[in-house]
Amino acid sequence: MYDVIVIGAGIIGSYTAKELARLGHSVAALEKNPEPGCKTSCTGIVSQACLDMLPGSHSAIQREARSATVFSPDSNHLRIKRETTQAYILDRMALDRLVAEQAGQTGVEYFFSTPAIDLQSDDRGVHVNATRDARPLKLSARACVIACGTAPGLIRQLGMGRIRQYAHGAQTEVSCKNIDEVEVYSGRHFAPGFFAWLVPTMPGKAKAGLLSSTNPGTSITNLLRYLERQGKIQSASHYISYGSIPLKPLTKTYNHRILVVGDAAGQVKPTTGGGIYFGLICAGLAAQTLDESLRAGDLSARRLALYQKRWHKILKHELDIDYWAHRFYQGLTDKQVDHIFQVILRHGIHESLLASPDITFDWHGKVIVDAIRHRSLQRSLEKFKLFRPPA
Ligand SMILES: Cc1cc2nc3c(=O)[nH]c(=O)nc-3n(C[C@H](O)[C@H](O)[C@H](O)COP(=O)(O)OP(=O)(O)OC[C@H]3O[C@@H](n4cnc5c(N)ncnc54)[C@H](O)[C@@H]3O)c2cc1C
Repeated sequence: MYDVIVIGAGIIGSYTAKELARLGHSVAALEKNPEPGCKTSCTGIVSQACLDMLPGSHSAIQREARSATVFSPDSNHLRIKRETTQAYILDRMALDRLVAEQAGQTGVEYFFSTPAIDLQSDDRGVHVNATRDARPLKLSARACVIACGTAPGLIRQLGMGRIRQYAHGAQTEVSCKNIDEVEVYSGRHFAPGFFAWLVPTMPGKAKAGLLSSTNPGTSITNLLRYLERQGKIQSASHYISYGSIPLKPLTKTYNHRILVVGDAAGQVKPTTGGGIYFGLICAGLAAQTLDESLRAGDLSARRLALYQKRWHKILKHELDIDYWAHRFYQGLTDKQVDHIFQVILRHGIHESLLASPDITFDWHGKVIVDAIRHRSLQRSLEKFKLFRPPA
């Protein structure tokens, strides 16, 4: 009988497990893959604040980013630059390995190649059925954390609802010359409803990828052809990784003896698809709430509801505004995106926003509200009958 079983040893599951072990609890982590991070499609761009939550993560840095160029569908572009480093590009597999290694050193017992199949909770604990080397494995704990990413099966089984809206991503490694900063592309040809990117990693290498509201397979082919035609990339790897991001959080992220964290709970920014930082914040709150509840001997849904209260207090408003902005952007035609670009460029709106201390890599809500309050942008959105403010 463990204190806690964590299902899913991605970055968020391993971080939760590590925090719980650090607080003195016995923890088992179940991962369906043979090693951490081996199937990730993540680009690995994070802020300084995120890096600060992950001791030792400097070893996974591939590059620092101070600037980015954003292209409109019609190739208008605006450059965003600050004097200090705004983001770090990490080797995501190395990061997942590092956090799992640290968790292991803190006492977490890992079970790799061990998919959890189902779980039940009763008065005595949570009982997880898994398979290991094709043999059934049954583990029990006082509580369970579900951190299985966008795989919805276990949460649905528990009757905890489901996340209905996702964006779908594809990414591959490319060879390139002279790509020194992050490039972001908008347009329905590459990334309907979202955006595409070219992110330099090591000398001569970059990640080309996209998120999209439709089939990402077709979009990545279009993106790679476009980048080749532009002379930005020389070749692309044949291996394309696919993954999704949730666009809205799960309505209920706690149950009797159970908490849900990370992508499984939908703790992801719908503006950029970034989920590591918000997931880590929530993982910390999940570990804190479970620690208190384990010590108090009360793992009821009523007590664990405190976890959701805590993370909602920090993130809910931000996620609501970000979701509104995503939906607004998703509804625009390429022509409308180009028009908005031109208004931003003509009035230097990006420069005034960049000068604001409110703009950060992680928190977009305030900047979105400031941008839509900008008179020239508002006038043109009204003219195009586009302006519907967030509720
Ligand atoms: C294309 C793309 C690019 C992205 N780029 C960025 C970025 O630049 N920056 C950023 O912050 N975020 C980015 N994200 C989002 C980021 O990848 C996720 O938010 C983050 O990985 C969430 O971590 P997690 O641990 O919750 O889930 P995951 O990393 O998905 O980990 C879940 C783990 O659970 C395991 N698992 C699933 N089901 C079971 C089961 N039944 N039993 C046992 N194990 C199971 C999986 O194998 C996996 O290892 C991107 C996402 C995509 C799709």
